[in-house]
Amino acid sequence: MAGQIPTMALIVQKYGGTSVGNLDRIKNVAARVARCRAEGHQLVVVVSAMSGVTDGLIKLAKEIMPLPSEREMDVLLATGEQQTIALTAMALHALDVPAVSLTGAQAGILTDGVHTKAKIDNITPKKLHALLDAGNVVIVAGFQGETPDGQITTLGRGGSDLTAIALAAAIKADVCQIYTDVDGVYTADPRIVPAARKLEVISYDEMLELASLGAKVMQSRSVEFAKKFGVVFEVRSSLNDHPGTIVKEESKSMEAVVVRGVALDKNQAKVTLVGVPDKPGIAAHIFKALADATINVDMIVQNVSHGTGAPTTDLSFTVEKADLLKAQKVIEGLQSTISFREVIAAEKIGKISIVGVGMRGHSGVAAKMFEVLARDGVNIDMISTSEIKVSVVVDLAKAEPAMKALHAAFIG
Ligand code: ASP
Ligand code: MG
Repeated sequence: MAGQIPTMALIVQKYGGTSVGNLDRIKNVAARVARCRAEGHQLVVVVSAMSGVTDGLIKLAKEIMPLPSEREMDVLLATGEQQTIALTAMALHALDVPAVSLTGAQAGILTDGVHTKAKIDNITPKKLHALLDAGNVVIVAGFQGETPDGQITTLGRGGSDLTAIALAAAIKADVCQIYTDVDGVYTADPRIVPAARKLEVISYDEMLELASLGAKVMQSRSVEFAKKFGVVFEVRSSLNDHPGTIVKEESKSMEAVVVRGVALDKNQAKVTLVGVPDKPGIAAHIFKALADATINVDMIVQNVSHGTGAPTTDLSFTVEKADLLKAQKVIEGLQSTISFREVIAAEKIGKISIVGVGMRGHSGVAAKMFEVLARDGVNIDMISTSEIKVSVVVDLAKAEPAMKALHAAFIG
């Protein structure tokens, strides 16, 4: 288990974009890896693109056209991580540590063909094992794989986490460490809520809610994968030696805390269809079209019918900001079949969530949340709840103060 490392362990370490953000940082990673190897461990090191590189490549592509080919986006974006693996291997060579870099494809990571958000189907770590057995540190490019017919794919933003977790499962690593620029998982983003504190441990489900709700700690698909395959991992800083946060299966003692964390997701956008005919089959039609375009819809709210004559309603849903243009195109394409009145897109929204497995045993948590927001004059736009979370969509300008107030009320 992470925390106490067994002797001669097989360790997967993942270093995110800021941890490899410049050459000094890459040398720092190499020094850490070299130290760990000197203790007798075998290491697989997964790296992200240097911070800003992926965003820069996306920007270049969009200067050519707003909706570039997704196949070509993958070819482009995969180059970011490819730079880092080579530089990291070189930094290890400079310390006389044998190291070999592998692209996702070379590491045997096979995916489906859904470009820009491919799923890992299978990993064949034969080459990787051979390189480890020969005494090398193996550096693997995160965020990428290939289809069975050799197309380069990427795993969705933040996908290097998934590479690390999936590799840890595939090679049955003893320890999986996710290195980032924060000391672990906090009760809230400390940049927004100064009172936030580091958690020693968190369950997969809580982490999943926090990750998918904008805590920005890890890619949510990677946490789902860890849960499914029981990969215990530790989130910790690459800039110090503080212990991080262990992420693992829920235990009874975790339920003593009602709200483990408060998260803010600024990455959602809202689409509203005004004047949609209120009759059977319409929602199915709309959301099937979005699903066919591989757009993930998060929250959905439908108003009560209004008007005399044929009833119509307003339907709102949220999607990731990156999918907004695509979603608008899909919806506009339905105009002739559904004949709604208009589509409105809103980007200035924030989704705030409170999360905790302890909510299962407590009532009145949502009511208290709404009270805190009401007291601060924050209007709630959309609401959704699950067993272990309550989320609200609010005006982006009010989101950060609202988050602080909620943290103070529930966590302190
Ligand atoms: N470089 C990719 C991104 O920025 C993947 C990652 O960092 O995990 O999304
Ligand atoms: Mg990243």
